Amino acid sequence: MTEDDLQFREHVRSALAGLVLPRAESWEAAGEVDRQGWLALGDLGLLDLAHAGPGFMRSAVFLDELGRTGYTGIRAAIGVHAYMARSYLELFGNEEQQAAYLPGVRSGQRIAALAITEENAGSDLRNLATRAEVCADGSYLVFGTKSYVANGSCADFFVTLAKTGQAPAGKVLSHASMLLIDAGLPGVTRHEQPMLGWRGAGLCAVEFTGVPVHANRLLGRPNRALSQLMKALDFERLVAGLLAVGGIGYCLELLRAFAREHRIGDSPMSARQAVRQQIAELDCELELIGQYARHAARQQCLGQLDTKTASVLKLKSAEFAVLAAQRCLTCHGARGYQRDSAVSRLYRDAIGGVIAGGVSELLRDMIYELG
Ligand SMILES: Cc1cc2nc3c(=O)[nH]c(=O)nc-3n(C[C@H](O)[C@H](O)[C@H](O)COP(=O)(O)OP(=O)(O)OC[C@H]3O[C@@H](n4cnc5c(N)ncnc54)[C@H](O)[C@@H]3O)c2cc1C
Repeated sequence: MTEDDLQFREHVRSALAGLVLPRAESWEAAGEVDRQGWLALGDLGLLDLAHAGPGFMRSAVFLDELGRTGYTGIRAAIGVHAYMARSYLELFGNEEQQAAYLPGVRSGQRIAALAITEENAGSDLRNLATRAEVCADGSYLVFGTKSYVANGSCADFFVTLAKTGQAPAGKVLSHASMLLIDAGLPGVTRHEQPMLGWRGAGLCAVEFTGVPVHANRLLGRPNRALSQLMKALDFERLVAGLLAVGGIGYCLELLRAFAREHRIGDSPMSARQAVRQQIAELDCELELIGQYARHAARQQCLGQLDTKTASVLKLKSAEFAVLAAQRCLTCHGARGYQRDSAVSRLYRDAIGGVIAGGVSELLRDMIYELG
């Protein structure tokens, strides 16, 4: 990391402390980041950081700091908008699509969501049901329902996976495409899906009932969803991993501070060897995962991020976040188990991280296959 990156970290940390932290509780309660929040993030240039090349190091710094705010739902909302959904436009959008959507995404005026999962198509997308029927003029009519869409409650458009052709059994993704679907089109309906955690992420089911989508809203060439997903999912898992590492850092800071302040009898909790050893163990693990995260970020800077690296990072960071949150909560005793405590939020949020963006079993399968 250069001197410039380190200064950028200071800048991001104070920007997030001024903008996100004072509003985080109200965004969590409202279930989404509000419009003013998106615009303020855009004004600060935080929705416009590089996805590739050497500039990605700034993104890595931002994602780590965003994770360190301790609000997984909010970090997911911002991560999906500025990275995961936006990446499809950056990677596969044509000039017209990029000109139409990216300025609004970067400024926070147009909120993005990624709508892939369905009730019967999650880890395995072969049962994908959403379909885009081709009309005589080349436009589409989209039918189907997507589930668990982060920013679903507030998105202005959805980057959506849909079948665009008749596929033989088991080959559905080679006859599917990614479409940009504006939320204001007729036939788009959102249904809240209240979750255990990730409360600021606006998770919704999004129903498309004969939504008319212009032909020029297809991303890339028709029936290319499989190769597009493979590339974009690597990036998504890198981003998820970097966010998770920041979140674990926050969790560990909370734990250390609590162990110093809380007294068992007449001595601070941190005087107990068992507690010190637990914290040290978590710290070691975080050091290793943090180094791996920096390695993955550098690979992305060099244009060399591969599926295995992205999968290992996502798997290990998400699972370790659960363990760290569990230890943090139990060390806090009953005060940590209170419904509205910061550590109970970390705990319920951490479980969602293991599911979203690829469940652990799927990632292990992939890692095994990649050897
Ligand atoms: C907090 C959160 C945010 C999300 N945000 C979005 C979003 O913005 N956009 C979007 O499109 N989707 C989103 N999702 C959906 C997410 O991508 C899916 O939940 C995920 O892909 C898993 O799919 P599923 O829930 O249908 O579980 P399933 O695929 O049905 O899996 C259920 C369980 O089966 C087991 N399993 C699955 N695969 C295997 C395997 N290969 N081997 C062995 N066991 C296996 C696992 O234990 C798994 O947990 C989100 C989910 C969550 C929880």
